[in-house]
Amino acid sequence: MTPQDNRSIELSLAQLAALDRVMAIAEFTPDGTLLRANDNFLMLMGYTLEQVTGRHHRTFCSAKQVQSADYADFWPRLRDGGGSSGIVERIRSDGRSCWLEATYTPVFDGQGELTQILKIATDITPRLALERMQQERLRMLSLVADASDTAVMISDSQRRIAYTNAGFGRMFGWQAEEIKGRSPMALLVPEKDEQSIAEYYAELYAAGSMQREEIVVGKHGQRYWAKVVSNPVFDAGGHLQHTVTLFTDITQAKMHEALQHRVLEAMAREQPLTEVLELICLEVERIAPELAASILRVDDEGQLHSLAAPSLPGEYSRQLNGVRIGPTVGSCGTSAWRNEAVLVDDIHSDPLWADYQDLASQLGFRSCWSTPIRNSQGAAIGTFAFYFREPRNVASALFHQRLVDACAHLCSLALERENSRQRIRQLAYYDALTGLPNRSLLQAKADQAIASADRNNEQVAVLFIDLDRFKQVNDSLGHPAGDELLRQVAKRMRSELRASDIAGRLSGDEFVVILPQCDGDHAADAVERIQLLLSEPLTIAQTHLAISASVGVAMYPADGCDVETLLHRADMAMYQAKSSGRGCFSFFSSELNKLAQERLALENALREALQKDQLRLHYQPQVEMATGRLYGVEALARWTHPQLGEISPARFIPLAEECGLVADLGRWALREACRQLSEWRARGLAVPAVAVNLSPTSFHNLDLPRMIADTLRSHDLAPADLTLELTENILLDTNPSTMKTIDEVHAQGVRLSMDDFGTGYSSLSYLRRLPVSELKLDRSFVADIETDEAARALSNAILGIGRSLHLTVVAEGIETESQSVWLEKQGYPVAQGYLFSPPLAPDALARWLEERVVVMGEA
Ligand code: C2E
Ligand code: CA
Ligand code: CA
Repeated sequence: MTPQDNRSIELSLAQLAALDRVMAIAEFTPDGTLLRANDNFLMLMGYTLEQVTGRHHRTFCSAKQVQSADYADFWPRLRDGGGSSGIVERIRSDGRSCWLEATYTPVFDGQGELTQILKIATDITPRLALERMQQERLRMLSLVADASDTAVMISDSQRRIAYTNAGFGRMFGWQAEEIKGRSPMALLVPEKDEQSIAEYYAELYAAGSMQREEIVVGKHGQRYWAKVVSNPVFDAGGHLQHTVTLFTDITQAKMHEALQHRVLEAMAREQPLTEVLELICLEVERIAPELAASILRVDDEGQLHSLAAPSLPGEYSRQLNGVRIGPTVGSCGTSAWRNEAVLVDDIHSDPLWADYQDLASQLGFRSCWSTPIRNSQGAAIGTFAFYFREPRNVASALFHQRLVDACAHLCSLALERENSRQRIRQLAYYDALTGLPNRSLLQAKADQAIASADRNNEQVAVLFIDLDRFKQVNDSLGHPAGDELLRQVAKRMRSELRASDIAGRLSGDEFVVILPQCDGDHAADAVERIQLLLSEPLTIAQTHLAISASVGVAMYPADGCDVETLLHRADMAMYQAKSSGRGCFSFFSSELNKLAQERLALENALREALQKDQLRLHYQPQVEMATGRLYGVEALARWTHPQLGEISPARFIPLAEECGLVADLGRWALREACRQLSEWRARGLAVPAVAVNLSPTSFHNLDLPRMIADTLRSHDLAPADLTLELTENILLDTNPSTMKTIDEVHAQGVRLSMDDFGTGYSSLSYLRRLPVSELKLDRSFVADIETDEAARALSNAILGIGRSLHLTVVAEGIETESQSVWLEKQGYPVAQGYLFSPPLAPDALARWLEERVVVMGEA
């Protein structure tokens, strides 16, 4: 309240009358007792004149006011002549308060004596209430503006920032004062060019309001995906005054939208896993072009496998395949190992990358941030990584974190989905007991095999395999033992097959094996191998078991053109096999069956012949052309079967090769030939050397050189007394032992001879590598030498090759005098053939030799 110079107040009666009409007026004694009040006052305060007359002023005030220090002073000050004016609160008769703009004026009489205090007041309660309301509204508005997370920006007609709310400061990191007057575009979307800014404003002013989704940048380079709503405000004349723009952070929603929509859609469309993951990477790289994304899978053995990394070098991803996770295996291997995110800011210096510097240098990336992808149990089943080309922008970390969160979740969904798809596949197509394909998968694979055989004109064998007396195992040892037996059978079967072969279980103890690119002979071989393998003893439930299987074979296309028919016929053949006893097999076609059974019988007979030493060696002399003297003899195997009679080596040698007996046969022949040679010598017969034919398989045995040395020693022979004949087939042999064995045998001084020379290899360079000392001109050249000039030219050339390499060249298969003459003319030093002698039994050879010595002696 400001004191007034009351003495200056001189009111005319007319003025007073006017005042009385509009103002509330009351007169008080100097000590505050009300003397008079006008109607306005009484109306305002809600009293009658009688009620107020004589009341003290304090009764119009609130108790709180009366107790205040201000009020204690109030009347003394008025009495001292100080006036008072201001806005005061007074209490009406009904207890409600009212607000008055009041003036208290001391009134003095002519003697200067204070006679009364005049109060003139107007009621300002309604006005105040309105003002209060307005203020509250403003307060609320600014609360809204500042408390909201929406960033608000108002720019002026010059497109300069005029106002920003607190939310703007929180979102972008700018203080309002820092950016007042700056261009919003330059500030928030610095990459936008002039052209698109101009287009933006043009569109905005034309539309009158605009909503957009933009990536906007904050003070520290942090980025947001924002919904931007702009509203220009024009004055009555249509001139731009302000533009109010609201920014809402929709980063999370946007990422989810951008990623999830597309990714979930891809998953729903059953797109393959790698495509889905590649899509995630590409979306991420579109949102954040400063990085490259990579997704790896961690398998059950803890090895990494690249699933998607469209922007990393392919070679890099390939090299990651199979890398084992561990405590210091780059960013990804380590993050999978620790099952937590791993951030490596400089892959060229971080110890986690120490072992992977070669990889790192191929990369062309600076830093790598990897996060585990977890399954629903929380285990790391993969990693999701960001590779940064530039040093990482720390302000964007939140943005990247949100990306990672959105992606890791999606990746986990995709990976888990794939796993369950595989589980379903496994359940649907594989036999749960043995893990072999079930009937439907087998059927599908067989269809494929047959279609491919049809295209390539090949045969397919379908084997129906049924265990013998499986029911007995089940009944006596129980079903768990039966199951175990089936598992072991399946395991053995799988171990025997090629990758392209198909094995499956139909039901119970019935298995099927499908062999693509397989003729009848090979099918019989495969059946025997499988039967042999299954017959090996096994232990189940502490019981030793010897099992066997009966097998039926049907051939595509001879026995049927579709899987159904073939399976049925193989089944029939299996029943036929069962009827001949346990462990047998049968072909569906009677002709094939006959051949296969004969072959099997012959094979068994050969095995027996070898065991019982029923094979014999015959010896064919090799003669020196110039002198007619014996150069050596070639040992040739002979087999006379008790029932089948004489069986040609052209038949039983290949059979021995196929059924794995040829190495035994070779050992036997070596021993027998050496024994025979020393026996002849003991009888005084001059046989200079013996040649033994060996198959490539014989050279697989690293023990062969020692065995030869022992044999020679025990018969008192020199290494040079023995020649080993090998064929060019040896060159096709991939066994790593072969060359080693050959070299060792040669080093001992045993001679090597290249048999059937001229028929096989076109390149002769191997002659430099193989330590042979003899070539045997193939007998086909000899047969044609009289009639065919080309054969003559070739035999001549081969002799030339032999000579220039200092090898002895033997011509074999000489049957006529004229052949012998031709070869002698060409200069062949050694000859072998019926003309001189057929292969002879040892005694016959001895006689041949004795007669010859006599003849030569006579000559
Ligand atoms: P090979 O090593 O080329 O043996 C020479 C073959 O020519 C022998 O046939 C022999 O009887 C035959 N022969 C000899 N002189 C003449 C002739 O003037 N005219 C004709 N047309 N043929 C002649 P054989 O004994 O039937 O042996 C056939 C093949 O069986 C041998 O061919 C050899 O590759 C293999 N073989 C024989 N014995 C053994 C053996 O103990 N081990 C191995 N691994 N293979 C053997
Ligand atoms: Ca030979
Ligand atoms: Ca030969």
